[in-house]
Amino acid sequence: MESIKKEYDRLVEEIKQHDINYYVNDAPVISDYDYDRLYRRLLEMETEHPELVRDDSPSRRVGAPPVEGLESIRHEVRMMSLNNTYSDAELDSFIATVYKETLEEPPFVVEPKIDGASVSLVYEKGGLISAATRGDGAVGEDILHNVRTIRAVPLVTEETQRLVVRGEVYMPVESFSKLNEKREEEGLTLFANPRNSAAGSLKLLDSRECAKRNLSMFAFGLDKGQGESHFADLMRLKRLGFRVNDMVKLCKTAEEVKEHVAFIRSKRESLSYEIDGAVIKVDNYRLRDRLGMTIKAPKWAIAYKYPAEQAVTKLLDVEFQVGRTGTVTPVAILEPVKVSGSTVARATLHNMDEVERLGIRIGDYVSLEKGGDVIPKVTGALAERRTGEERAVPLPENCPVCHHKLVREDVAFRCVNPECTGTARGALRHFTARNAMDIRGFGESLIDRLMDLGMLKTPADIYTMDYNSLRTMEGLGNKSVDNLTAAVEESRSKPFEKVLFAVGLPSVGVRTAEILAQEFGSIDRLKTATEEELTAVYSIGALVAQDITEALRQPKYINLINSLREAGLRFEAEKKDAGGIFEGQTFLITGTLSRPRADFEELIKNLGGKIASGVSKNLSYLIAGEKAGSKLEKAEKLGVRVLTEDEFMNMAERS
Ligand SMILES: [Zn+2]
Repeated sequence: MESIKKEYDRLVEEIKQHDINYYVNDAPVISDYDYDRLYRRLLEMETEHPELVRDDSPSRRVGAPPVEGLESIRHEVRMMSLNNTYSDAELDSFIATVYKETLEEPPFVVEPKIDGASVSLVYEKGGLISAATRGDGAVGEDILHNVRTIRAVPLVTEETQRLVVRGEVYMPVESFSKLNEKREEEGLTLFANPRNSAAGSLKLLDSRECAKRNLSMFAFGLDKGQGESHFADLMRLKRLGFRVNDMVKLCKTAEEVKEHVAFIRSKRESLSYEIDGAVIKVDNYRLRDRLGMTIKAPKWAIAYKYPAEQAVTKLLDVEFQVGRTGTVTPVAILEPVKVSGSTVARATLHNMDEVERLGIRIGDYVSLEKGGDVIPKVTGALAERRTGEERAVPLPENCPVCHHKLVREDVAFRCVNPECTGTARGALRHFTARNAMDIRGFGESLIDRLMDLGMLKTPADIYTMDYNSLRTMEGLGNKSVDNLTAAVEESRSKPFEKVLFAVGLPSVGVRTAEILAQEFGSIDRLKTATEEELTAVYSIGALVAQDITEALRQPKYINLINSLREAGLRFEAEKKDAGGIFEGQTFLITGTLSRPRADFEELIKNLGGKIASGVSKNLSYLIAGEKAGSKLEKAEKLGVRVLTEDEFMNMAERS
């Protein structure tokens, strides 16, 4: 039992970390396929051992909260995610279940699963009045300004009845390649894949920039059916001017369904957009209602995921790069090869343990995988193609920049030389980057020049440097120095979460910095936070917590924070209200409800309410399920308002 609990806890932590990579940082490190395998194992364990289920289990969530900067929009009808399947056998069993539960053999609609970002569009009196991202399924973000720039989205239709259209926004593969080429020239972070860039583009604050991204959209349905069936509604949308995919097909038999799933797969390589599978939906709305749904997904639809695309190429060399934290990362230098529509010439190998696990040698032919939404990864060597000329990847002994001896910490090799220019350069690039302090003009070449001149060592120097001495530097001149000093001045008023991210603590990405700023409010409070306090925050795992507490004890970060604080940067968050219809109200749950209590508590908190610890006359509402006991009696005696589950859900849904 002890070992099962351990395995379960480890699994929860692992999936939580992947969720952050995927939903929060938009930088997944495993393929969807591998993720789903972990997730299924979790569900299996939770079914077998319900007593182990943790409140913070990823199975309790279907997404992540919206980032700041865009208004929130609550979906009238939840945007569900779909259950996944990977084989014909599993597809057969899905179809068999539908037949069994409906006592009919109804037709299915089979559609390609476009690898993009789902959106919900509201039309009233024939005009587009609202557009939102999927978000966590219940609440998305207002992206109307960007959606209006997508040419495939009609701004007006001749339908005057209210219409809520669901669609998938995507970036064509060719536009994606061009965008990344341009970003590389400009020294910006590259997008991992077209899905990643479509999602990122939709969240831009400046719609003029979004308009240049050449996004498109396929409509895949309505939020709730209006016509006699899903297929009929799709055809109606097509007539109204929405883009409906040509490969959408109404299939009458199980055989036809499987044939069409295979057909879509055979077209995958030749499409101008990426797909990662097919979606199979019961066509008839009446039968959909009868089948119903689970907490996470409808029982009338399933996604059939195709495996990731693979390619084979030669490993020419392994280079080592030193990052802002001093970690040295091996990078595979590959003979350029095309996979999933883009050319791959480099791929991170993460760390030396991974290199060893893969068993690759320099000169090997290696297999390369690029799923719909992961950065390309080397998956192994083709041992049968070895000639004997291959050589082992050497362990890095010295820093590739300062040549200082490296220190081994777990899987990482780290340059701990405090004077290392490689680490310092990484830290400066990170600090001035657009998603951090956003100091325009402080590009990579200027950083390198100023470092060579000895004027710039740490980010704190940016605020104490003598900029007048730059006026005579070649290629700079008065105007650019004025712009530079203005940008530096402007950066002093950046909010705490940006400063915290810019400081560059290990494991702290943009979103983690935002969460830390929100939860702890100031650097002084964060410095005193224990690992337990940190891991109590959803989305912060044990390893991240350890990295943060350790870093905040190191002189390197303490000194940097102190100097930046002296320079007047913000190390405290501004206070703001959470909002929500339950703001200022307290709830308590008693008795048995139809779903786990934690689900209701999460909903209450999401809507701004608080969970009380006991019944008192200050309690706003008691939600009483079946077999409610003494708490119900006490509440009634004190005149506290008592709600049934249905009454509560009605209140919550009215928001
Ligand atoms: Zn070094």
